[in-house]
Amino acid sequence: MSAERYFNALREKVAGDMAHLNALDAALGDGDHGTTLLRGLTSAARAAEGQRAKAFMRASGGASGTLFGLVLHEIEQHLEAGADLGAGLARAEARICDLGQVKPGDKSMIDALSPAVQALQGGDLAAAVAAAGAGRDATVEMIARRGRAQYVEGGGQGHMDPGAVSLTMMLALLAETEAAA
Ligand SMILES: [Mg+2]
Repeated sequence: MSAERYFNALREKVAGDMAHLNALDAALGDGDHGTTLLRGLTSAARAAEGQRAKAFMRASGGASGTLFGLVLHEIEQHLEAGADLGAGLARAEARICDLGQVKPGDKSMIDALSPAVQALQGGDLAAAVAAAGAGRDATVEMIARRGRAQYVEGGGQGHMDPGAVSLTMMLALLAETEAAA
């Protein structure tokens, strides 16, 4: 499975789910999560080998573009250069927590990424996807402590975090495409 194929498939997937991702974000933030991801992925799909995650970061922009770009960089390195996915995503998690000043339980992408990283220590991507999905679902009841969602009534409790949804989508697509390769 090439990085090129993965990024193209992810762009297609996000294009199809853009309205849903925007609606999730509208409940907690500014309603642009799907649009922002798609802008970054459209640029990534046109970028040269090894430059896709960087192109994503530049085109999507803002804090979330950088944070998702860190995850996509590790996936790109894994697909292109055979880099260890578990170590890469653990590195991305640490950098996201540092740059975003976020930790598990804050109602963010980290609530999907962190359990996935734990599960990947056993080397099982399917288990990591399941763990990410459970973490994503758990964000519904969480009260946001970071980002715009913390200013929404009740800290956004009752709404799923859009970043946890898209993070899980990225890992699920990787598992699907690796299984099919
Ligand atoms: Mg937003």
